This record gives sequence, C-alpha cells and structure tokens, in this order.
Amino acid sequence: MRLDIISIFPEYFAPLDVSLIGKARERGTLDVRVHQLRDWAHDVHKTVDDTPYGGGPGMVMKPEVWGEAIDAVIGDGTPRMIVPTPSGRPFTQELAQELAEEPWLLFACGRYEGIDSRVVAEYATRLRVDEVGIGDYVLAGGEVAVLVMVEAIGRLLPGVLGNAQSAVDDSFAPGSMRNLVEGPVYTKPPVWRGHEVPAVLLSGHHGKIARWRRDEALRRTVANRPELAAALDVDALDKHDRKL
Ligand code: SAM
Repeated sequence: MRLDIISIFPEYFAPLDVSLIGKARERGTLDVRVHQLRDWAHDVHKTVDDTPYGGGPGMVMKPEVWGEAIDAVIGDGTPRMIVPTPSGRPFTQELAQELAEEPWLLFACGRYEGIDSRVVAEYATRLRVDEVGIGDYVLAGGEVAVLVMVEAIGRLLPGVLGNAQSAVDDSFAPGSMRNLVEGPVYTKPPVWRGHEVPAVLLSGHHGKIARWRRDEALRRTVANRPELAAALDVDALDKHDRKL
C-alpha cells in the first residue's frame, strides 16, 4: 500500500519508522512518503495560510498551495484522499478495514482553522475524498490524527501482525466483536499481589474460555460503552448472551 502524507510538520511522522509500521515499511508492505507542504509555497516566507473570509479568529490554509502540492504528489494517479478534521465522519475500525483494502491513500494534514473548503470540493470532482474525525475533541493539527489512522490501517495489512487472529478478536472487529470491546487479558504468574487469574483461563477448556471471553466482552461493553451495547444486533446475540 502506498501512503502519501502532506504536512507542514513532516517531523511528526518519525514514529512511523518504528515497531509494526516501521517493519512493514522495511518489508515493503507499506510505502510511506511524507511531503513538506511549504515546498509548494512561493513567497520568501513560504506562507501557507491567510485570514478567514467572514472574519473571526485564526488562519485558514490557502487553496493554491494545497492544489499545487496535491497535483505534484498524485500526478495522473487517483488515490483515495483523507482529510482529517473534527467535523468529518468518525474514524472507526470498520473504516480502518475499508481503507486497508485501498492500494493508495493520500492524507492532507490541516493546521490552524483548517484547509480552505474549496480544496475538498476540487478534489472530490476526481478522487474519492473523505473528511474524517478521530474523535469528538480538537487537536492542534491533522498530524496526530493521521498517525492514529495509519497505525490502525497498517496493522490490518496482510503480514503486519505477528498473528492475524489478533485483529479478528480485537475490540470492534467485524464479525463476533462488532460493537463489542474486548474483555480483560492476563499473563503469568497466576497470582500477582494477591490478584488471581480467573480459574477458567487456566482450565485448558477451549469452549469455556471462549464463552468466558464473550461474557466479559459483553460486560465491559455495557459498563464502558453503553451506547454500543444499546446498538448490539439482537440477532447476533445467542441465548446465553441474553441472560447477561
Ligand atoms: N476549527 C476547526 C473545527 O473546530 O472544526 C478545528 C481546527 S484544528 C485546530 C486544526 C486541524 O487539526 C484540523 O484542520 C484537522 O486537520 C486537525 N484535527 C483537529 N482535531 C481533529 C480530530 N478530532 N480529528 C481529525 N483531525 C483533527
């Protein structure tokens, strides 16, 4: 998968050199190219922003510099374009899965009050463009949001996770974990500071362990994410689930 990221702070993306994503880049599963937006600003100060029409505080990123940058990065290509913004559609595991199936993604990192809206309007005429928010809070810029998305997408690519089953059992994973968060996990020793690992996990009984994990996922979802629990698909619940 090819990922192009345009930003005024390319140094934000240093973490993409380490861990799972770093290894995926070394192996060639991920081809990440980070571009400095200011390379397409022509004045002596390399200006990328201007005052907002209609007044108000803050600055807005200029469409001309974004247009030149995107044109140069994509050439005649047609990546799917992602514009991080708190006003976008929510970034979910389902969207991460969908984006992991794309061959080429282009991320446009906003700063200040965001990017002049004509940039999305322009590229939506020739690319698939999604404005995406990673949560109901406001960051200073799109870089951290892109790091979040790249990590969530990258770990779903074939061969990136040591064990592909991990992604299937994760919170929010499509299938049996849809709308569920994962329950608690434990490792050795069996007793730590008086806290015992639940006996069922030491039983070796795979059926009982699977049942316990499902029950704990449901319990934790009800406790921490009641809105997800309320949206659970009743047909996807079995007789045992309904007793919880
Ligand atoms: N004035 C904008 C608003 O209220 O919607 C917020 C602008 S924010 C200070 C600057 C940039 O940070 C945005 O253009 C976007 O790229 C990024 N950003 C901030 N919060 C985000 C979020 N929750 N999800 C995705 N991107 C975000």
